[in-house]
Amino acid sequence: MMTSHDIDKIKSLLASPKKIAIIPHRNPDGDAMGSTLGLRHFLKLKGHDATVISPNEFPDFLTWLPESDTVKVFEKDTETSTRILQEAEIVFTLDFNVLSRTGDTMEAVLKALTVPFIMIDHHQKPDSYAAYMFSDTSYGSTCEMVYHFINMLNEKDLIDKTLATCLYTGIVTDSGSFRYPSTTGTTHRIVAEFIDKGIDNSEIHSLLYDNHSHNRIQILARALQNMKVMPLYKTSYTYLTQDELNSFGHAKGDTEGIVNYGLSMKDIMFTAMFTENKDEGIIKISFRSKDGFDVNQYAREHFSGGGHINAAGGKSTDTLEATIQKFIATLAHTKID
Ligand code: 5GP
Ligand code: MN
Repeated sequence: MMTSHDIDKIKSLLASPKKIAIIPHRNPDGDAMGSTLGLRHFLKLKGHDATVISPNEFPDFLTWLPESDTVKVFEKDTETSTRILQEAEIVFTLDFNVLSRTGDTMEAVLKALTVPFIMIDHHQKPDSYAAYMFSDTSYGSTCEMVYHFINMLNEKDLIDKTLATCLYTGIVTDSGSFRYPSTTGTTHRIVAEFIDKGIDNSEIHSLLYDNHSHNRIQILARALQNMKVMPLYKTSYTYLTQDELNSFGHAKGDTEGIVNYGLSMKDIMFTAMFTENKDEGIIKISFRSKDGFDVNQYAREHFSGGGHINAAGGKSTDTLEATIQKFIATLAHTKID
């Protein structure tokens, strides 16, 4: 939690117009994009020159987000992005806990900076690179934390429809549309305020979830066909090979959310999805669980990853087959209940 001393320091940092860079994690999701764009809009209203710099391209299903056309993509526009980072007087990092989640090149640029960093994040085990940390795993989304951050600065009156639309997006996507246990009365009260500010809440759900390409539905269908169930371990898993993805003409973000289907079966407590990425030479893995089984811990221990108790990710540089075999081998000595 931030101390009142931290808040005072941040208030004085923001008392005069500043150049500010705001960074989501690589492969940003709804919470990463909603929180960074929301914070940028707030800082703009305060008179700052703020830019969101995404480590890589953000998915198509988020391009409708207000002011997303202002986002600089580090991987695509490295020179401009590097210059903005080097000229920034304050750097906000949102929705991630370790600088390596921006990728090697961007991490090196960030590490060389000496200006204050402000972290707003809800992942476990944050690194200590930030001068000011609002890091708390009890929040369901970084977007909800940005709301509290603005509230702590006594600036809630600045929340308008655009800001509320951005923050609502991350609250919805990270809470599985208000179903995960981190959803609180406060979450709903914040959302009630956003609806009173005039957000098109029903429209936002449509834009997020009823906006898929036919290709994406075919990719989903293939992942469901590939799914294996191991009742003994209360576990399911699925995979998508690079060839399968290519054959359906996949686009960024097409695999988002598919992993959750593995948990939608009765008595299944743990699920994983393995996605082959030949460009990056890795197998990207998503883990989900119900109740007490801690997939953050599991991902850290076995697949150089992390995340939250019920949603985490990791990666492997082995082949897809070897990665899945390794996964299956871990189940015999993993207590899943
Ligand atoms: P997803 O499966 O949707 O990619 O990620 C689920 C959660 O785990 C998200 O909160 C995400 O930020 C986190 N996560 C995904 N991959 C990694 C990883 O490789 N390392 C860490 N530390 N966290 C990850
Ligand atoms: Mn998040």
